[in-house]
Amino acid sequence: MEIVRRPHLMQQTTQDLKRDKLKIAFVPTMGALHAGHLSLVRKANQLGQVTVVSIFVNPTQFGPNEDFERYPRDLGRDVDEIKELDVDYVFAPDPSDMFPGGYGTFLYNDTLSDRFCGRSRPGHFRGVLTVVAKLLNLVRPDFAVFGQKDFQQAALIKRMVQDLNFLTEVVLCPTVRESDGLALSSRNAFLKPDERQAALVLKRALDLAEARVADGEDDPDKLAEAMRGAVAAEPLARLDYAEVADAATLDPLDRLDRRAVALVAAWVGATRLIDNALLEPPGEGR
Ligand code: AMP
Repeated sequence: MEIVRRPHLMQQTTQDLKRDKLKIAFVPTMGALHAGHLSLVRKANQLGQVTVVSIFVNPTQFGPNEDFERYPRDLGRDVDEIKELDVDYVFAPDPSDMFPGGYGTFLYNDTLSDRFCGRSRPGHFRGVLTVVAKLLNLVRPDFAVFGQKDFQQAALIKRMVQDLNFLTEVVLCPTVRESDGLALSSRNAFLKPDERQAALVLKRALDLAEARVADGEDDPDKLAEAMRGAVAAEPLARLDYAEVADAATLDPLDRLDRRAVALVAAWVGATRLIDNALLEPPGEGR
């Protein structure tokens, strides 16, 4: 496994791999690697002949009052986590090389950037799209692997790859969870023991929506209302949003007559957590 720090060296490596006609599979991360990330790396191992993992806490996707400074960073530990897997390159650039003084180009999706997480994190997806576009240009992967855990992010990236004609196939992997259902997240490390317990409310809300659908409920507003009620019942949690949307477009739905996604975000103490679940229309896929 080789650690590449400088963007131009990553680009040179990519060019050599392309010349040798090797298929590149890429996993972008912000580090603090956990089993969710590792599942993406395993998927990348299957898809490509060369696996590249990037570790970069992207300053442009954090708002001024968010957790950029305290986001966990430990490259040595991350490299240890993936050394048993088949990773050829770890790309870990410095922010000053990715966004040097004078940097001025940003990407924005007119319909998707300001919904859901974008509403409470203004500018977040502008930063995400911009860094992912840069990473895709540096690594030029045949496959880029993302987690369903960040459903809106994945939808935005799929749209960007399509809109801007990147020669990369976006591959999604299911959310990896703790045994009690909590979605793995680098931010779970911030939770105090009572908050860790309270954080289960996100999964509880999603399970409730799924159960209501199984009982025949097909009104997205009622499903969202039920999720909001579930989060409200947890004193340590504060709801950001709970919504049900078309899983393909993230547009609002009048009725659950196609595959939908239930999305929930809440602060637990000072930590903001997100989760989601796909909802099949009643009577289908069950
Ligand atoms: P992050 O380091 O949090 O920016 O995430 C990097 C990638 O890992 C993204 O594609 C995430 O969607 C994915 N990811 C994060 N948590 C999980 C999880 N629990 N299961 C599967 N993938 C995940």
